[in-house]
Amino acid sequence: QSGAWGFPRGGMGAVAAAIAASARGFGATVRTDAEVGRIRVRDGAVAGVTLASGEEIDASCVVTTAHPAISFLRLLDRAELPAGFAADIEHWQTRSGTVKINLALDRLPVFTAHPSVDPAVHGGTIVLSESLDDVENAFQEAVGGKPATLPFADICIPSVFDDSLAPSGKHVMSMFTQWVPDTYADTPDEAALADYADRVIARVEAVAPGFTDSVLHRQVIGPYEMQEEYGLVGGNIFHGELSLGQLFHGRPAAGYADLRTPVRWLYQAGSGTHGGGGVTGIPGRNVVRQILADQRAERWRRRLRRGSSA
Ligand SMILES: Cc1cc2nc3c(=O)[nH]c(=O)nc-3n(C[C@H](O)[C@H](O)[C@H](O)COP(=O)(O)OP(=O)(O)OC[C@H]3O[C@@H](n4cnc5c(N)ncnc54)[C@H](O)[C@@H]3O)c2cc1C
Repeated sequence: QSGAWGFPRGGMGAVAAAIAASARGFGATVRTDAEVGRIRVRDGAVAGVTLASGEEIDASCVVTTAHPAISFLRLLDRAELPAGFAADIEHWQTRSGTVKINLALDRLPVFTAHPSVDPAVHGGTIVLSESLDDVENAFQEAVGGKPATLPFADICIPSVFDDSLAPSGKHVMSMFTQWVPDTYADTPDEAALADYADRVIARVEAVAPGFTDSVLHRQVIGPYEMQEEYGLVGGNIFHGELSLGQLFHGRPAAGYADLRTPVRWLYQAGSGTHGGGGVTGIPGRNVVRQILADQRAERWRRRLRRGSSA
């Protein structure tokens, strides 16, 4: 259904695998486990990248999709950036109090309000939130340094539609929950995080008795794990907060929402650019259009230069 959330068969990894397969079909080489250590610049234009292993890859055009702070403050030499741009990236807000909880379930939950198994219920988005006041209180508690007493959760059970995700009869549940203090990105409180996860499960138990007993395994991914394992600075799932000042022309810095950067032929197309976050595909599509337009303009400039010197 257009405009609705969807579940890719095989999980989100299947989306990345499909994009990689498509790129290979066009002749691309896809390399993973190849951390970029530096983006090299020569005379104001990108010259390629140097991998953390020391391997040098020359390139006349580079697109970075890493977090803006990684791309511009870690991988590039600050001397290559205008002071105003570097300051904008330094001030980029990238906090988060989001916790992902993944559960392996022995069976589907039986909701008191709707006991029969129904794909429209079990296969839809299940939101744990009784009132806006609860959501506001959960947020304010985290701002005050305490994990939410009544966490908000946005839940789905993709195995209802995709039997490749769990053995027959068993299920996986994905819970997007909020909030814990944003300081957990650097100094997590593991015991408080475990209690918070217990409270999320207790909220489901309240509407689906017996749920807690159905949990076979659980994985709790807080801001610290997101930062350390996924490279999401501050644990922010969108490479930067979706606040008013960080949207549209301000994503990630005023003057660069066209996906160019201060370095010629270095482009950006990650979640921290206009069109992100989320799996939208918008930055990727737009950056290709921008590069093609810039290449066309460059060809014209060269032709004109040749013409005027002839
Ligand atoms: C828990 C969670 C739930 C989410 N739920 C949803 C959802 O329901 N719907 C939705 O649309 N979006 C969701 N998102 C957001 C979505 O995952 C992101 O917006 C999307 O993955 C961004 O894609 P990206 O390519 O811009 O960045 P990423 O997916 O973050 O990819 C950036 C890549 O760059 C790599 N990288 C970083 N530094 C280097 C380096 N030096 N060298 C080489 N590689 C490097 C990283 O390892 C990473 O693989 C969720 C995210 C999380 C964490």
